[in-house]
Amino acid sequence: MAPLSSLSHGFTLDRVEEEPEPQAEVEPSSPLLDPLPDLPAERVRLPNSDRVIIWFLITDQIISLRVPFLPQQITAKRRRPEENYRFVNTNKEERTMTQDAGGCSRKRKRRNRRKPKTTSTEQSTTASGVTNSTVKQPPSASTVFKSSPKPSSFLEKMKAKLSGGHFRMLNEKLYTCSGDEAFKYFKEDPSLFDMYHTGYQEQMSRWPEQPVNIIMKWLKIHSSSLIVADFGCGDARLAKGVKNKVFSLDLVSNDPSVIACDMSKTPLDSLSIDVAVFCLSLMGTNFPSFLQEAHRVLKPSGWLLIAEVKSRFNPNNGGADPDRFSQAVCDLGFTSVSKDFSNKMFILLYFRKKAKNNSSKEIKWPELKPCLYKRR
Ligand code: SAH
Repeated sequence: MAPLSSLSHGFTLDRVEEEPEPQAEVEPSSPLLDPLPDLPAERVRLPNSDRVIIWFLITDQIISLRVPFLPQQITAKRRRPEENYRFVNTNKEERTMTQDAGGCSRKRKRRNRRKPKTTSTEQSTTASGVTNSTVKQPPSASTVFKSSPKPSSFLEKMKAKLSGGHFRMLNEKLYTCSGDEAFKYFKEDPSLFDMYHTGYQEQMSRWPEQPVNIIMKWLKIHSSSLIVADFGCGDARLAKGVKNKVFSLDLVSNDPSVIACDMSKTPLDSLSIDVAVFCLSLMGTNFPSFLQEAHRVLKPSGWLLIAEVKSRFNPNNGGADPDRFSQAVCDLGFTSVSKDFSNKMFILLYFRKKAKNNSSKEIKWPELKPCLYKRR
């Protein structure tokens, strides 16, 4: 697992995309304010109060934590979004309340409804380090309590927000580390994999067409005797949708048919596979070694099918030049058969392994930029 400190600035906070209502700002450096800094959290400063409420999603539970607001960390200055991360109250109701602190009675009622009630599950704990002399009116305790088991639309909304935050954090992690590092990361906490895939499926459900379905169709019009390796199989949908023998490979195996490995080092035999599939899975910074591995396991004339997010191959937008990428794959020992740019969301590249690769020239791989999802 990456050190907490490295995650706290990169992942727990959402970038401000628009100027919100004036909000107090909190630096993320205080251990008091960031007791679990590697978890995506939503923070709301209580109006007319010296407390901040932080909501975390831990596994399936929302944990909310009330902590003191450090006065010297409030800055009146607005910063440009690119300058900083800051905690923003994104809850419309709460925002309205902040605007109208004097309070019309309806809003006040709403606030009272929303105030976390002291329940039997509530526990008081003494916040370590609260003795810090900079804390204004240091409270005797901060309150940690579990959310009510009764679902409420607010909790459901908060859960969805936080789980979206988890997905974006894990997605960014996968795109910015090596396959080996990603493997160790998920090995330490395999539940993160489910979290990632819940968010992934959510994103995919918005795509008009999913590339895995196109690959399935391709396999169905070819011989079902072709042996397939699905590199980065996710929930192994491909294997479930075709008659072929499919070796499903991913960082975590939550299905007996899935082989858990870093795909740059699979346990597959050399020259044993007819079709190697990479469907939205060229995520690691060392993606060329994934393709090198596919080359090793493919039989001569074996197929290499790559589906990737279109924006990663848009040179006008910082993406790679698809021709340069394709050339690099050919230099690895493949022949380009066809390219399909017809889909709005992804591109499809089809290659075949050369019977012999005589080239020993150094391969110039273009950089593939991460595909990061925006907060909604
Ligand atoms: N191919 C599936 C899932 C795509 S999501 C589909 O189209 O539905 C990308 C998948 O690649 C994730 O499940 C991720 O865990 C996997 N992945 C990323 N890097 C990997 C690596 N180094 N080794 C194995 N799997 C990897």
